Amino acid sequence: MLIILDNLNSHYEIEQLTRMFTKDLSVVYGAEKQHTEQADILTVSRRDKTVCAELTFNGKVYTDTLEADDSEDKMMLDICAAVYNMYTEAFGKKLAWGMLTGVRPVRLMRNLYKKHGDIEKVKDIFKNQYFVTDEKIKLCSDIFSLQKDIIDNCRPNDYSLYISIPFCPTRCSYCSFVSVGSTNATKLMEQYVEKLCEEIKYTALTAQKAKLNLKTIYIGGGTPTAVSAEQLERIMQTVKDNFDLSKVEEYTVEAGRPDCTTREKLQIIKKLGADRVSINPQTFSDEVLKAIGRKHTHQDFVECYKTAREIGFKSINTDLIAGLPQDTVEGFENSLKGCIELGAENITVHTLTLKRASNIVTNNQNNSYADVEQMLAKNAMLGENGYVPYYMYRQKSTLQSLENVGFSQPHHESLYNIYIMEEIQTIISCGAGGVTKVVGSDGELKRIYNYKYPTEYVKDFDTILARKDEVIDVCRQFGFLND
Ligand code: SF4
Repeated sequence: MLIILDNLNSHYEIEQLTRMFTKDLSVVYGAEKQHTEQADILTVSRRDKTVCAELTFNGKVYTDTLEADDSEDKMMLDICAAVYNMYTEAFGKKLAWGMLTGVRPVRLMRNLYKKHGDIEKVKDIFKNQYFVTDEKIKLCSDIFSLQKDIIDNCRPNDYSLYISIPFCPTRCSYCSFVSVGSTNATKLMEQYVEKLCEEIKYTALTAQKAKLNLKTIYIGGGTPTAVSAEQLERIMQTVKDNFDLSKVEEYTVEAGRPDCTTREKLQIIKKLGADRVSINPQTFSDEVLKAIGRKHTHQDFVECYKTAREIGFKSINTDLIAGLPQDTVEGFENSLKGCIELGAENITVHTLTLKRASNIVTNNQNNSYADVEQMLAKNAMLGENGYVPYYMYRQKSTLQSLENVGFSQPHHESLYNIYIMEEIQTIISCGAGGVTKVVGSDGELKRIYNYKYPTEYVKDFDTILARKDEVIDVCRQFGFLND
């Protein structure tokens, strides 16, 4: 598909919208480049106050003409609606999230609610302006209602601490994350842990100077348990020695992979103050696990989960992925049942995303994918077993443009997941790949980036510490630090 966008102020929305229907697209800007061999073409052009959209697809032509509104935002919405309607006719399918391309539908719902003050009006906008299905509107509004009190309780000087350990035992085939294989990185891991502990100490001082109150801690990755037990202990001891854990409301460690999460590491995690772990089967099918490059079986996961329970963790999250290669609707249902039977307090259901840097995509693997919408329909089982959806996000290139949803037993919602996804609380990040986000009381947001790769992080560590100082300046600028 070729898209020709002529004389428009904004292109992003139309390109993203098109990507939800076809991955095979190229874009040109301006009317003069219209000579092409391409058969399927979308042209959107603006002349003064008139916008013409024309789609040629499989030999059929669809057209629409719009009169431009005074507001550019409103006009872009109208253009996207016209294009979406042409695509649904041409491709013969509607999308569950309609023309919504954003990754945070709940935040959009919250913003619209702030503007209109009436949730029924907002649902009507989702249905009639964005063409979202009733089922997804309900999902979104259930999450919106559940999050309301949690979000209302956030104060501008609250923050969460994120610590990144970007190593993994092996690389999963669907992963595009910047994680380094731990088997050949012993020296780098040691250097990394040393610097990370320094950054954690420096962050504690920075947060003190900025008069911030720590609410949650999340150690993620990669796979934090890919480092040795001694290294994990050193990192978590540094956290304990430098932050007041007595007021922390939630402390999570991702013990994601059963192939490197030992009893000893789980004991260290518990001993040093974390009360929540995430242990991720992704699927209960050993064939599918093999197909995605995970070096553990479903039984390894079950044993790791039971060990975590024996050690005393009261809140355990299990991640599943719908749409994995070789999985089936029945297979996914079986995985879901497995997590429910174990009694996991949180079950997070991701939809497979085909990321450009993942092995699945770069190796051009010719996988067949079961109907992921049918898989997600099985999530109804979670509701029947007392789980409620509590946070959600979407990603680009997700199968059928569907969503990732965290489900929780009552009162086990992960606060950190809500804070990070809704971007309503400051998150200070340590480690490679970490992004600090300082959030102001009116929703202003300033991002401060750490280096992406552990090698750069270790090599240019002084820059990392210097960037931490910016947190104090931004807090001052946002008006919640007066000194
Ligand atoms: S465990 Fe997670 S971060 Fe590590 S390779 Fe697999 S998907 Fe990527």
